[in-house]
Amino acid sequence: MGTLVGSQRIFSRLVKKRLISGLHHVSSGTAPPWAVRGMSVSNASPGFGLLFDIDGVLVRGRHPIPGAAEAFRKLLDRDGKLAVPVVFVTNAGNCLRQERSKELSQVLGVQISPDQVILSHGPLQMFPQFLEKCVLVSGQGPLEDVAKDLGFRNVVTIEAMRQAYPLLDMVDQSRRPRSGAAISVSLPAIEAVVLLGEPVRWETSLQLILDLLLSAGRPTEWSAPPPYPHIPILACNMDLLWMAEAKTPRFGHGTFLLCLETLYRKITGRELQYEALIGKPSPVTYNYAEQLILRQAMERGWRNPVRTLYAIGDNPMADIYGANLYNRFLQSRCRDSPGPHSCQSVLVCTGVYSYQGEVPSDPQESVTQTVFHGHRDFKFDPSLVEASHVVRDVGEALELILKKEGWRRSQES
Ligand SMILES: [Mg+2]
Repeated sequence: MGTLVGSQRIFSRLVKKRLISGLHHVSSGTAPPWAVRGMSVSNASPGFGLLFDIDGVLVRGRHPIPGAAEAFRKLLDRDGKLAVPVVFVTNAGNCLRQERSKELSQVLGVQISPDQVILSHGPLQMFPQFLEKCVLVSGQGPLEDVAKDLGFRNVVTIEAMRQAYPLLDMVDQSRRPRSGAAISVSLPAIEAVVLLGEPVRWETSLQLILDLLLSAGRPTEWSAPPPYPHIPILACNMDLLWMAEAKTPRFGHGTFLLCLETLYRKITGRELQYEALIGKPSPVTYNYAEQLILRQAMERGWRNPVRTLYAIGDNPMADIYGANLYNRFLQSRCRDSPGPHSCQSVLVCTGVYSYQGEVPSDPQESVTQTVFHGHRDFKFDPSLVEASHVVRDVGEALELILKKEGWRRSQES
């Protein structure tokens, strides 16, 4: 791959440990799909899987994108069930996948299960060594429920830290303690920081997280020089910007990470390090998506091997970059591998990326963004933000994919 520093190292390490290929089947107690013997291959089974981004592809803010539900009908069998393996891969993270699957079911008019939804933090399950540790979680929404759903058993929130150490959060004068407050609750040493998504009151989170990094997890015990490497950080969602109802993009979690990295470097003179960087465009996330696709195919009894993944998204720097990067990995993977051989990127124009006038016929000319909005640890490679296909919307995307695959709904039923 060669374009990515931190996450490539992490990804390679995971592959080396055979966690990636084995984890899911170990945890579910099922055999991998290629282990099924004595089954004949049915031509009616789809030989491809679909990865849909959500915001900017299927919804924009709280509003469905016109035509998305109609487009999905092409994927249903006679019983109204999805007839191809589908996962929804989003960098959103401040909610539970159960909530997101309910919203999607309503928007698309088809039953979507929580197991088909990959939020930015879903692939944290690939790092089981942290599940028993005492971790600080940063973000907003039902943080403790999200952490519990992921398998973390010993979680401390920023708010709990504020209460335990009332003298640390001093930027907002109205929230300072009135008199000389002492430590009110005793917390164990924090062993890792899990950044689930963008928090509110950034100054509080930045201050308290830095306190942990500079003190080996005991924020009242700063040492000079500060310990390095610092305690592990696992970060989900690197998007600098995202598209909501406003006409211009909004701050994403990547902006928060940029602030944290900049402050850490300014204060210590050293680089902040990540144990894991997940969410698109990280290959860890795409590998997790591949596992869920293969599991769906196996559970539905589709015997054709899934050879091609199609990733449909609106953000060149997250969806397209990630899909193309994973495609490089798949191409370098042994051709005898039973899994997919390619991952094609499909860029829609209903979100972050929007076309001016006609859709360009040459994808090489389709990306006009020249400022690199990707994460520090993902080096800019112009070829990775060039989509395999550029289409107007998700309807056109599905039309193109189904035509390429020669797949019709009637084949399934
Ligand atoms: Mg999007």
